[in-house]
Amino acid sequence: MKEFALLIDYKYCTGCHVCEVSCRKEHDIPLDEWGIKLNELGPAKMQGRWLWDYVPIPSDLCDLCEERVAEGKKPACVHHCLAQCMELVPVEELSAALANRGSKVTCFIP
Ligand code: SF4
Ligand code: SF4
Repeated sequence: MKEFALLIDYKYCTGCHVCEVSCRKEHDIPLDEWGIKLNELGPAKMQGRWLWDYVPIPSDLCDLCEERVAEGKKPACVHHCLAQCMELVPVEELSAALANRGSKVTCFIP
């Protein structure tokens, strides 16, 4: 199977928590664990500018929704993110995908 990475363009993340909920439902994850966890950075003033970002970070439980992807579907979090700031990218296309995004991007490869 092709290797994939989860790319998160958190500049557009609204902090809605839908990725957490959809991941939990898809994988039946208990309430005290997370497949992906939203982190809030700030508000904080740094070098005269305000920083306030939401950054979702997948955990070790994330398998990039292997079963869904094998069926031709998007990962649950990618499918449900209303801000469309998440995408599943083949690793060989990762540098091109990163170049097309802004400066606030994280990527996760399990
Ligand atoms: S679903 Fe999308 S917009 Fe909402 S918290 Fe997750 S990454 Fe951010
Ligand atoms: S890719 Fe699947 S397992 Fe990974 S965080 Fe998203 S919903 Fe959870």
